[in-house]
Amino acid sequence: MYNPLSSRYDDMKYCRCGNSGILLPAISLGLWHNFGSVDDFANGQSIVRRAFDRGITHFDLANNYGPDPGTAEENFGKILKEDFPGYLRDELIISSKAGYRMWPGPYGEWGSRKYLLSSLDQSLKRMHLDYVDIFYSHRYDPDTPLEETMMALDQAVRSGKALYVGISSYPPAETKKAIDILKQLGTPCLIHQPRYSMFDRWVENGLLDVLEKEGVGCIVFSPLAQGMLTDKYLKGIPADSRAAKDSGYLQINEITEERLHQISKLNEFAKQRKQSLAQMALAWLLRDKRITSVLIGASSVKQLDDNIDSLNNIRFTNEELKAIEAILK
Ligand code: NDP
Repeated sequence: MYNPLSSRYDDMKYCRCGNSGILLPAISLGLWHNFGSVDDFANGQSIVRRAFDRGITHFDLANNYGPDPGTAEENFGKILKEDFPGYLRDELIISSKAGYRMWPGPYGEWGSRKYLLSSLDQSLKRMHLDYVDIFYSHRYDPDTPLEETMMALDQAVRSGKALYVGISSYPPAETKKAIDILKQLGTPCLIHQPRYSMFDRWVENGLLDVLEKEGVGCIVFSPLAQGMLTDKYLKGIPADSRAAKDSGYLQINEITEERLHQISKLNEFAKQRKQSLAQMALAWLLRDKRITSVLIGASSVKQLDDNIDSLNNIRFTNEELKAIEAILK
């Protein structure tokens, strides 16, 4: 039996998502890895429980998370049923997405109304939910009129199957267009979900400006560059790491000598700040007020705790920021 800690809201920081009424925890938990049918269910369950006990109210999923695709939603549905009965649902922000290949044939991916709305129905069934809090278009589809994709998101809200909508990994110009269309439809764009970390800075070239100007929130994924921004790869590739696992998306060839050199220097720098490298990498993102939340993954409760403790110090002096830039160049 799981009884959530009564102190769960004491220490987490909550940030307003753009101009909306929604507050998101500074750290949110994603279920892309570690929650599929290939993973240990009890471990996943203990990570979700611990996350909630420490004030993480936001859990991020997508139709295709697993592997097998769909099984992260199924497992999360089981956890919800066992651990979050009744009104506890009202303390959670659960998101799902559609955009990547989920089923065979021409209607199983991208941005058509047919795909998005069918996929949302499937996700709700897998999680045993009446609605998700946020439903995303997972990627920009250059071959579907943006109006069609945005009308499908609007429909998801009007039908009561989603409370808010978002977009993920849309480039800046398409983001602006999507925001405008959604505004006209009367369903504002709540949030954008791009990749952002010390190792991937593309959002700094226009996207963050658009989001700030339009009052749209920003939750960033892979803030630890899938684990590279930790000390775990400094002494080789651990057998239980994402890079070593067949089901892991991180490829060993991404961990180059040059990367390891940077990681090692960043790790030394984090020690001077009395933080782990993971904590410093998350704090570095959260120092920017345009970032509503960092969306982490964790394969253990220990990693989760390490990451949440980044909130103890998210301040950087200008000198520190310059020194980090020098390492990253
Ligand atoms: P991270 O960059 O936070 O990587 C998480 C992984 O890093 C963990 O699974 C673990 O890997 C390792 N790790 C985490 N914390 C520590 C620590 N303190 N010490 C050592 N290692 C650590 O994020 P993800 O890449 O997992 O992405 C997070 C979420 O973002 C996803 O779950 C998903 O919800 C979302 N996402 C969205 C996408 C989109 O297109 N919108 C695409 C990708 C992700 P290990 O197994 O090696 O222990």
